[in-house]
Amino acid sequence: MSTTRVQSKATAPEIVGSGSEAAESAPRRVHVVTFGCQMNKYDSLLAEGRFRRAGYATTDRMEDADVVLFNTCSVREHAEERTFSWLGELKRVKAERPDLVVGVMGCMAQRVGEEIFSRAGHVDLVAGTRQFASLPALVGDVLAARNAGDRARVVALGMDDDLAVDRAGEPWAGGSHAWLTVMRGCDLNCTYCIVPSVRGRVLSYPIDHLVREARGYVEQGARAITLLGQTVNSYGEDVPAPSAGERRWSGRQGRPGLADLLRELQQVDGLARIRMITAHPSYVTEALAEAIRDCDKVERFLPLPAQSGSDAMLRAMKRGYTVDLYRRRMEMLRARVPDIELASDWIVGFPGESDADFDASEAFLAEQAFAVNYVFKYSPRPGTGAAERLADDVPEEIKKERNQRLLRASERSGLQRNSAHVGATRRVLVDGLSDRGEGVVLGRTEHGLAISLKGEADLVGRIVEVRVESASAYGLTGTLQTYPQD
Ligand code: SF4
Repeated sequence: MSTTRVQSKATAPEIVGSGSEAAESAPRRVHVVTFGCQMNKYDSLLAEGRFRRAGYATTDRMEDADVVLFNTCSVREHAEERTFSWLGELKRVKAERPDLVVGVMGCMAQRVGEEIFSRAGHVDLVAGTRQFASLPALVGDVLAARNAGDRARVVALGMDDDLAVDRAGEPWAGGSHAWLTVMRGCDLNCTYCIVPSVRGRVLSYPIDHLVREARGYVEQGARAITLLGQTVNSYGEDVPAPSAGERRWSGRQGRPGLADLLRELQQVDGLARIRMITAHPSYVTEALAEAIRDCDKVERFLPLPAQSGSDAMLRAMKRGYTVDLYRRRMEMLRARVPDIELASDWIVGFPGESDADFDASEAFLAEQAFAVNYVFKYSPRPGTGAAERLADDVPEEIKKERNQRLLRASERSGLQRNSAHVGATRRVLVDGLSDRGEGVVLGRTEHGLAISLKGEADLVGRIVEVRVESASAYGLTGTLQTYPQD
């Protein structure tokens, strides 16, 4: 018999049914395959932590696993097709090992839901973006049903589950760098973006919770932490304003804001660098600019996607700002942090983009002199406002040509920004070894710029002073001046 159980919440926080029995003998093993962005990578770690607490072991080898979970991405069609192709590979394995549990979680699971079963009938579990804390229980439901002779398919897509998952104290093997998701979801509604529908409304974690988690990573060896959020600088917008007598923070009406979190993390002993992705121009405040200025652990680098230099396109995208507003925010930011470097995403070929609209993007990229740029050709995503309401009317050839032109503009801008650092001595956090050959390490300057230099593994995780010798459009090379300064 086969049944599909649709539930908004798992039945219990810990594993139930045969999972508990399994935990008494050899632990069941779970393997998580991650697609997509850094937030997904972080969520996969969260999911693995939940399984370990429920008595599972984690394994890096899919062939050793009793449970295989795909943490999926929905940002582009290509990302979803990759997941289905991996799922296809697993069909044969599942035929040989019917006891295997196959689950799909994350953004594609949230978007496609039960339809996943019709394309991949061997999947047992579909769990949305806010279900990772319940995953062991959901797998337990699959196993319990199997034990009762039922071929259950479990679906859990609820968006209002409690996400207060505390990873402080969990074992973590991330080396010198850790990710820290500080908020989830997005309350904006950009017409090309699937995020609001698959990741839900903004939900910020409490500052004390985040500081505790950051301390946990530092105690286990992290030197740099990257703060993650869809719109990381809208952190705290969802938190109720403080009432009389409660602490007032720097955010709107006394709410906590990203600036407060940066200042609190600045106090964490042993933490050397704080990075953040991705910010939204509408939430760039004086408080944030001043926190970046005052906190020497915070990189002077802000990923602040402009997306277009044309007001007509920004309106069609519903980005919530004009070119002039973006420009004024940058003036304010640069007045307080004159040496800040900026990164931007750009969409070319958005519906209705004329030659003049595109020219405006090219000009704005040059005007704001972004150090790093990511250029995307527009493609409609089902479920977004643009896909439903706007004709994808820019021919592919023109999209390709604009893509190339903007990439060339990006290279000019990157080279210009990077060249300005040549001859200077910068404090570099060494992130790892170069895979181009022995004796070269890679790191980031205090301005968030990629740099390579001669050095050995003992430099990884250390702050060193480096003289910048040369620049390309994509980064810097330098020579070590002084050995670790920390
Ligand atoms: S700000 Fe816009 S592009 Fe960014 S996550 Fe929210 S809706 Fe998507």
